[in-house]
Amino acid sequence: MEDRKRLEIIEYGNKILEEHLTFGSGGNLSLRYDENMLITPSGVPYEELQKLEIVYMNYEGEVIIGKLKPSSEYMIHSKIYQKRKDINAIIHTHSKYINVLGAIGEDLKAVHYLIASSGDSIVKVAPYETYGTKELAKRALEYLENRKAVILANHGLVACGENLEEALQISRDLEFCAFVYVKALAVGKVNIIPDEKIKEVVEKFKTHGQI
Ligand code: 13P
Ligand code: ZN
Repeated sequence: MEDRKRLEIIEYGNKILEEHLTFGSGGNLSLRYDENMLITPSGVPYEELQKLEIVYMNYEGEVIIGKLKPSSEYMIHSKIYQKRKDINAIIHTHSKYINVLGAIGEDLKAVHYLIASSGDSIVKVAPYETYGTKELAKRALEYLENRKAVILANHGLVACGENLEEALQISRDLEFCAFVYVKALAVGKVNIIPDEKIKEVVEKFKTHGQI
């Protein structure tokens, strides 16, 4: 079980890289496991990641199994797992259009119905804090509120899900929505979908496709 989860983290790390949602060793991924979590090590390129390099650690910051230093953002991951029982997987990326919004401090609005994959009609920008600090982790959790994603100002996105597939899908959908929003802002005209219409989509997504 633990082995399968370690491999899954590596697989999704390579996906965020291949899909250009991050670059280099930027970003990090984790899975809730028992009362603890499995998380990517700090600064190791995704293409080179080995199963035993995934760190098993507790929410207090202690490594249980692993020789490498865990992700510098382990506090973002541990705070979310402690507070949000609906979340079992977290992906942090440095995607491009999300970062344009993060740089101008503009919350992502409902310019496309796919924003509903975050569970809400808005994705907020948490104020800038230095990477890897408890201040950043605190802000990320605060601005995540009850939805499944938060933009970190001048940094990137944190997307959460029941599993890594959901967290990845949210990362993709929000990067696309951010692209549309940035382009619309540049044109100078933006029509936003009303909140109640997005609520309808959030409901529809629960049974979308072959579910
Ligand atoms: P780590 O390699 O330590 O996870 O850091 C990458 C990152 O995205 C920091 O915010
Ligand atoms: Zn980062």
